Amino acid sequence: MAAPDTPPGGGRKTLVLAGYGMIGHRLVASLAERGQLGDDGPWQAVVVGEEPYAAYDRVALSSYVDGLGADDLSLVAPGLHETPGLTVHLSDTVTAIDPAARSVATAGGRTLGYDALVLATGSVPFVPPISGTDTPGVFVYRTIEDLDAIRTWAAGCRTGVVVGGGLLGLEAANALRILGVRPTVVEFAPRLMPVQLDEGAAAVLRDRIEALDITVCTGCAATAVREEGGQVVALDIDGWDQPLEADLVVFAAGVRPRDQLARAAGIAVGERGGVVIDDGCATSAPGVYAVGECAVHRGRVYGLVAPGYSMADVLADRLSGGEATFTGADTSTKLKLLGVDVASVGDAHGTATPGSRALVYSDPLAGDYRKLVVTADGSRVVGGILVGDLSAYPMLVQLARGAIDTPERIDALIAPASAAGGDGLPGVAGLPEAAVVCSCNSVDIGTLRGAIQGGADDIGAVKACTKAGTTCGSCVPLLADLLDDEHRKAGKDVRRTLCEHFDHTRQELFDIVRLTRVRSFSTLLGEHGRGRGCEICKPAVASMFASLAGGYILDGEQATLQDTNDHFLANMQRDGTYSVVPRVPGGEITPEKLIVLGQVAQDFDLYTKITGGQRIDLFGARVDQLPAIWARLVEAGFESGHAYGKALRTVKSCVGTTWCRYGVQDAVGLAIALELRYRGLRAPHKIKCAVSGCARECAEAQGKDVGVIATERGWNLHVAGNGGMTPRHAVLLASDLDTETLVRTIDRFLMYYVRTADRLERTATWFNKLEGGIDHVRGVVIDDSLGLAAELEADMERHVATYECEWKATLDDPARLARFRSFVNVDEPDPSLVFVRERGQRRPAQPHERDVPVAQP
Ligand SMILES: Cc1cc2nc3c(=O)[nH]c(=O)nc-3n(C[C@H](O)[C@H](O)[C@H](O)COP(=O)(O)OP(=O)(O)OC[C@H]3O[C@@H](n4cnc5c(N)ncnc54)[C@H](O)[C@@H]3O)c2cc1C
Ligand code: SF4
Repeated sequence: MAAPDTPPGGGRKTLVLAGYGMIGHRLVASLAERGQLGDDGPWQAVVVGEEPYAAYDRVALSSYVDGLGADDLSLVAPGLHETPGLTVHLSDTVTAIDPAARSVATAGGRTLGYDALVLATGSVPFVPPISGTDTPGVFVYRTIEDLDAIRTWAAGCRTGVVVGGGLLGLEAANALRILGVRPTVVEFAPRLMPVQLDEGAAAVLRDRIEALDITVCTGCAATAVREEGGQVVALDIDGWDQPLEADLVVFAAGVRPRDQLARAAGIAVGERGGVVIDDGCATSAPGVYAVGECAVHRGRVYGLVAPGYSMADVLADRLSGGEATFTGADTSTKLKLLGVDVASVGDAHGTATPGSRALVYSDPLAGDYRKLVVTADGSRVVGGILVGDLSAYPMLVQLARGAIDTPERIDALIAPASAAGGDGLPGVAGLPEAAVVCSCNSVDIGTLRGAIQGGADDIGAVKACTKAGTTCGSCVPLLADLLDDEHRKAGKDVRRTLCEHFDHTRQELFDIVRLTRVRSFSTLLGEHGRGRGCEICKPAVASMFASLAGGYILDGEQATLQDTNDHFLANMQRDGTYSVVPRVPGGEITPEKLIVLGQVAQDFDLYTKITGGQRIDLFGARVDQLPAIWARLVEAGFESGHAYGKALRTVKSCVGTTWCRYGVQDAVGLAIALELRYRGLRAPHKIKCAVSGCARECAEAQGKDVGVIATERGWNLHVAGNGGMTPRHAVLLASDLDTETLVRTIDRFLMYYVRTADRLERTATWFNKLEGGIDHVRGVVIDDSLGLAAELEADMERHVATYECEWKATLDDPARLARFRSFVNVDEPDPSLVFVRERGQRRPAQPHERDVPVAQP
């Protein structure tokens, strides 16, 4: 008995879906997959969605300010909306339910009869009941339209306040940062992410977030939004004398289930909100169901996507005649917040386990925190928290679920790998078949192994046929391990693909970029990958473009691929300021240039330090000062030292024959020539070189990626050395080379490394993994055993010919300089940056010194 606006069902039953968000979409897709819609299906579905967009990936919403468009976020598979019997009305809202007549009314004037009504209306952002929240410049953070509004308003803003220090608040703070607004996060609780994290974990997270130039105020309650001239200017904080200035305020302080439709129709709602559902997702009204964030199940509202997906699958089964049940969901979560990995597993606070005890490993310097919650007798892991290194996450989830046995030495589970002789966790091979790997889509090990054995040969294929890893993506590393394990067992080659978005190793992808000359990430992804890319593949591909094509690294789409340091062509320091590092080739510098450096340092009150790489670093610059500082330096003939990039850093040298009585060759001349040749060369990791004028080795060339030592007859070339955490002595590649041969050999060596190393692999690590070691390298770069020499040389020639100083290129072009626009001409000092003076210079205050500020420049 469909009402007038319901399409004719041809004898089929009518399902009306109120809300076309993530969970509503999952229901529709699940019904379509089960053949419940379509020509022969028993249902016709009418979807009413309030937003102008069809279902999109809200979890990835923040990517919308970071370069993705609405289409990129869409969840709708091609062809889904053409399914016969499926009608979608966007920009319309269900306004009332008449359970007796089994119909709903919409704001657009439709009346839709139903045999089944599904409420998937999600949540509404919680805005605390304080004055001024309707002032222009105040926003919430939930939809694409919210982000459009924030972006437009942010264009003229300098400071923003985010109310809420949970997942949403931190995402919102990051969005403001990307939009050029300096955010302060205000959290009522005494720590960040109070639901997921304990004090120790929150402190580590806070440190890492503050290092990104985001100010965090915990234990602070916002009491009013202040308005001036019809727009927001500040936020009052309880107990503060001064209001917190803000050109923009975002409320991201939690959500409330959208249950008003049900309430008004007399359908049961929970004490603290949410439409009450049973294990079959049915509400108290016959024929009315609820799924996702608007539902309350056994007293619990789930604010995560995975439980909602389970509800949608259960309901799809029920509507197909099945008897599936939703009995609750694991709320373990793994998140990436502003580049910091955070996970909360099972009973993370131990509140549901009487007498529980905790084992904690914390390394605040490395930003690493691990906590295990165990039963009173220590026999079982029930939960945990991880910040920083999440490699243990998949296994911890299995342990907390009881899917695998807790090992005898429980402390080994959180000890750093070096102390435990491994991470102490059972490998993927140790997981039982029933262990659920992908919680979003409930896929277990058995299903995954079956898919791989049945021919799913790469991550893309495994994802396509099992759906594992297609939602939050946190299980993808485990899928990769499983693939490797199965391949190993089957005697196949184990390949490390770059990430879940490309089924190619870095080397293969480099070759694709080289041969196809593709210079756009989206084209590369569209033609050779999938999805939207991630923080692994984006900078890796950006580096390939830069190595192969040269050119400005922040033009167009490339800007969105770079990490923070590359983004501002400067190195961010622990207090959120940046360092300025001009190139000083070979460490040789004129007095005039030294004076300029001194004057710039003095004028901007920058901390000045001579580095081990023989140049002068200037610390403590604010982002808004970078263009002015570099304008002075470029004018004086300096150029970027690429201290921020995975690129050539310096070529250190001794004075060689120029001054030293032992010198046998011109070490300085060669070092300058090499530094000018390889400057700006982007690589899988940083590259350091050195030239010593004789065997006494004052430039420590044998601790460098490329080290040259003068001999009576020419130069000895050493490669693949490094200092750092795992020092490695360089290996002699060739002896007594003349200068021309030496340079040609280095060209080939460096380009071979750039082509074939894995991401973030220094030459030493790459070299250690090469089969054949130095003989192999000698074969390739000296004897041309792979026939690559001409190509490698040509690649290097192209690099040399297309090099330009990134800072000069920025200053020369107003469009490029506009990247720093919102920071330029901001003269006011930033109140959150506090410095003290030590040994005549300004340095950032340590936490205990923050009450003793000194004047800023
Ligand atoms: C920025 C952000 C980041 C997040 N990150 C994560 C994460 O990392 N992991 C995670 O698990 N979860 C995350 N979430 C939460 C996740 O997005 C939600 O759990 C999920 O979207 C809930 O889906 P839903 O369909 O229930 O609600 P929604 O996706 O909100 O969809 C509800 C839809 O119904 C529409 N609607 C409401 N009322 C009506 C009506 N009366 N008529 C018609 N249409 C109506 C709404 O406009 C909306 O489009 C995040 C959320 C946000 C905002
Ligand atoms: S390496 Fe040799 S040439 Fe260079 S400074 Fe030392 S002693 Fe002199």
